[in-house]
Amino acid sequence: MSRIVWAASLAVILVLGARILYPAAAPHLRSEHSRPAAHLHGQMVAIVEGGKLFHDPACTYLHGKARMVTAEEAARLGYTPCPRCMKSALEH
Ligand SMILES: [Zn+2]
Repeated sequence: MSRIVWAASLAVILVLGARILYPAAAPHLRSEHSRPAAHLHGQMVAIVEGGKLFHDPACTYLHGKARMVTAEEAARLGYTPCPRCMKSALEH
């Protein structure tokens, strides 16, 4: 019996934990392009000093000396997703 209670408690903890990590109830953010990092969590992207966009390192629209940063860092520095290679970040 105590085993069932323990298993049920664990299930509740997992569900609550998942809600905290992946809040499903945030549809108002889906069209908010100013926060692209929400869709690119932890992804490494390429930026160019003085540029405005961040790219997939393989993007053909990436010119100059690029450096790799996380998408969060790029967004914090004021970069926005490239409409060609970062299309997935602009959708959803
Ligand atoms: Zn690009």
